[in-house]
Amino acid sequence: MTERIDGHTLLIGLMAYPIRHSMSPTMHNNAFAKLGLNYAYLAFEIDNKKLPSAIESIRTLDMRGSNVSMPNKQKVLPLLDKLDPAAEMCGAVNTIVNDDGILTGYTTDGIGFMKSLDDEGINIRGHKMTLAGAGGAGTAIAVQAALDGVSEMSIFNLHDAEWENAKHNVDLINERTSCHATLHELEDRDDFKKEIQDSYIYTDATGVGMKPLEDKTLVDDPSWLRKDLIVFDTVYAPRTTKLMKVAQEAGVEHVFNGLGMMLEQGAAAFKLWTGEDMPVDYIRHILF
Ligand code: NAD
Repeated sequence: MTERIDGHTLLIGLMAYPIRHSMSPTMHNNAFAKLGLNYAYLAFEIDNKKLPSAIESIRTLDMRGSNVSMPNKQKVLPLLDKLDPAAEMCGAVNTIVNDDGILTGYTTDGIGFMKSLDDEGINIRGHKMTLAGAGGAGTAIAVQAALDGVSEMSIFNLHDAEWENAKHNVDLINERTSCHATLHELEDRDDFKKEIQDSYIYTDATGVGMKPLEDKTLVDDPSWLRKDLIVFDTVYAPRTTKLMKVAQEAGVEHVFNGLGMMLEQGAAAFKLWTGEDMPVDYIRHILF
C-alpha cells in the first residue's frame, strides 16, 4: 500500500453506517493495485446526519467519487447534481462519480445482476422474469432488467412496507420501458406458482434464505421448477441457499447465488470511476 500512495493518489469513499464489515475496500484496493491505478478506497462511518457534509467533502477534497450504502442510498439523491436514469427510476444511488465538482449518482446493483448472467452466457433480454421482492435489491434488478430489454416481469411482494414501492416500480417500468410489468401478492401461492412456471427466470430478492431465515425459501416444492428455468437467489451467504437446494433437487441446470452480482456491481462502479475493467476473477479469488 505505501508503495502505491503518493501525492497524486485520488480518494474514493464508501459512506454508510454501519460499514466496517464491508468487503468493498478489499475489493477495490486490490483491483487498483493489480492494475497499477493511483486510487485509494476508504470506508467512512456516515449516517444521515453527517451525509450532507460528507457529500460536500467529495467536492472539497476533489475525490473521484464514493459508494453509498444504507442508510444513505435514498437520502443522498437531493445532494447530487445529476442522476443516471436507472438511479432516478430506483430513487436510490450506490455510486457517485465526481467530474470536476459535478456529482452524478448511479445505481449498479441491477447492472451487476444483468452482467453476472451475461458472464454465465445467459441472456434474459426478450424473456419473462418472475421476481420476488421489491426492496433495494429487487427495485434495482427490476429497473435494470426492464431497461435492458426483459420483455415481461411479474413482481411478487408481501403486503408489507414495500408493497407501495412495488406498485410504484411496476407503474414506472410500464411508463418508461418497453417491459410489461405486473404486481402480484406473494400470499397467493397458486398465482406465484403459475407465474414462475410461465417464466424464463425466477429471481428471489427478498433475503429469505439468509440469516435469520437460513432454512427458509419461498419456493419449497421442486415440482414448481422446470429443469430449464433459470433460478437466481441474490443471497451469497450462505453460498447455497435453501432455494438453490430445492432447485438442484428439481434438476434445474442454471442455479445462481448473488456472488456474481456482488462482484459485478463493484466492477460497474470501478469502471465508472477509473474507466478500466475490474479484474473480476482475480478479485473473486482474493475475496472468496
Ligand atoms: P430490503 O429490506 O430493501 O427488501 C427486502 C424485500 O424482501 C422486500 O420486498 C420485502 O417485502 C421482502 N421480504 C422481506 N422479508 C420477507 C419474507 N419473510 N417473505 C417474503 N418477502 C420478504 O432488502 P434488500 O437490500 O433489497 O436485500 C434483499 C436481499 O438481496 C438480501 O438478501 C441482500 O443480501 C441481497 N442483496 C444482494 C446483493 C448482491 O450484490 N448480491 C445486493 C443487494 C442486496
